[in-house]
Amino acid sequence: MMENGTVPEKNNAVLESRVLIIMTGGTICMRPSPSGFVPARGFQEQCLSRVPTFNDGSPPATIDVVVNAAGDIKSHPSLRTPQTTYGRQVRYTVFEFEELLDSSSIDAKGWAEIAHTIEWNYTLFDSFVVLHGTDSLAYTCSALSFMLQNLGKSVVLTGSQAPMLELQNDATDNLLGSLVVAGHFMIPEVCLYFNNKLFRGNRSSKVAASDFAAFDSPNCPPLAVTTSMRTNVNWQLVYRPRSIQQFHIQTNLDTKHVACLRIFPGIQPEMVDAVLRLDGLRGLVLETFGAGNAPHGQDNAMTKVLADAIKRGIVIVNVTQCLTGSVSPVYATGMSLSNAGVVAGFDMTTEAALTKLAYLLALPDATPDCVARQMSVSLRGELTASSQPVFQHPIHTLPDRVQALTILGYAIAQGDLVRVQEILKTEHDWILNDADYSGNTPIHLAASSPGLPILHFLLLQGGSVHLRNRNGRTPLFLAANAGLAEHVLLLRKSGAHLHSEEQTAAHLLARRRPGVWGLAGIGPQEISNAELEEEEEEKEKSRGSDSIDGLAIRAQRVGSAP
Ligand code: ASP
Repeated sequence: MMENGTVPEKNNAVLESRVLIIMTGGTICMRPSPSGFVPARGFQEQCLSRVPTFNDGSPPATIDVVVNAAGDIKSHPSLRTPQTTYGRQVRYTVFEFEELLDSSSIDAKGWAEIAHTIEWNYTLFDSFVVLHGTDSLAYTCSALSFMLQNLGKSVVLTGSQAPMLELQNDATDNLLGSLVVAGHFMIPEVCLYFNNKLFRGNRSSKVAASDFAAFDSPNCPPLAVTTSMRTNVNWQLVYRPRSIQQFHIQTNLDTKHVACLRIFPGIQPEMVDAVLRLDGLRGLVLETFGAGNAPHGQDNAMTKVLADAIKRGIVIVNVTQCLTGSVSPVYATGMSLSNAGVVAGFDMTTEAALTKLAYLLALPDATPDCVARQMSVSLRGELTASSQPVFQHPIHTLPDRVQALTILGYAIAQGDLVRVQEILKTEHDWILNDADYSGNTPIHLAASSPGLPILHFLLLQGGSVHLRNRNGRTPLFLAANAGLAEHVLLLRKSGAHLHSEEQTAAHLLARRRPGVWGLAGIGPQEISNAELEEEEEEKEKSRGSDSIDGLAIRAQRVGSAP
């Protein structure tokens, strides 16, 4: 999969992306019942298999889905979309939860179930779409954004205002748009797709009970917008993990000891005190007026109530009731809150503040002080850090992008770390996930070039380890094929794994060089006929192609590495 969606072909064959659709319930799958709309099972067969946009009619194929913590695998019937504008087809299967919910009943247990399903299937799929009711969707998005750590793949949540089986619905467009985003663009975030817009999940709120434009992210522009022509991704906004760590999850959220309270004119300090004295309470999100203001109360009684609670170890976070803008210490009424120890939540939504508080309070060794500090810092792009300067580069046209990428490619190939660092200082981040004519990103180039520090540096800048080049190869495959053991280890530490389509070739190559392929996660295996054919293709590539893939195979043949 290419991030920019511009590299469609694998030798004339159309590349497939694999997406796992996780069905949790919600209106999208609902049917009428005597007691009103209720979630119904069989979404893939009933709603998708009969629709040509969701099923190209190709012969039935199954895909493996890991269904529990024991790693049990179930073979699921899959469907495939017709070819998209980007020359891809998206193969997917719908994995339905045992209990389908109206999302107003979902809680931290449901969030953990989603996180686990993604974790179990992380290496089997390119990306994930989660179908969910709209009522609490913004909370789920926010919670997942903190639970999924060092996420390298797209996770797109969506739902609908009208069921898929209703004649006039928004379910079809929302699901198809989500599949296209998930199947083509590597946006390593928890996102929410609705009404042709892709929002950062932890910036979103439900803003309309019945309009099709049900969601907005008022303090953060959409990450992508779908038009009649294409889906335009705003790559400058895309948040990327910047550490050498594998994907993992943290499902333990302390939702039982946090609460949310909306200030209103005339609110009494005793009311606030009563909430703050709830048994076991550890954190409170205070929804205040305007730029973060609340009444002092007679003789500062309100401020005293808040300050006392903070002294007792309760973390109180200040977010605004306004749809846009940020909490900032402008007025005396707001400043007295911060003097009392109330933490500024800046422009966080209530949904993000509440779930972040629950996440931080559940971390091992969490103290009120460190939780309070972290609440004002952006962990997953959930708030606009005011101290960060916003650089606006001149808008580049395509030739400039290509030029910049080429210069970067040469610097990587020459092992010139200083030059690479200089280029990255002046270029947009997206250059890291852009691809050259053969679909290689800078991470692909660094993965098969000798300079390990360059690969390390690019990974720390947010380069993706999951993008595949024109031959469908990941950076990990190229590094193993080049025999670069340290590169392989570094990539694996960063969460890289071989794509399922690379497995056959990798097993074959591992017979000749078990050491480095073992590090890439492949053990020796019998060669089947299919594998022999694949070997021939590999030989062909290495002979005929001037791509980095071919060069890598040649390097390996002359025994340049262990
Ligand atoms: N009550 C439904 C739910 O959130 C509403 C929806 O899906 O739009 O599950």
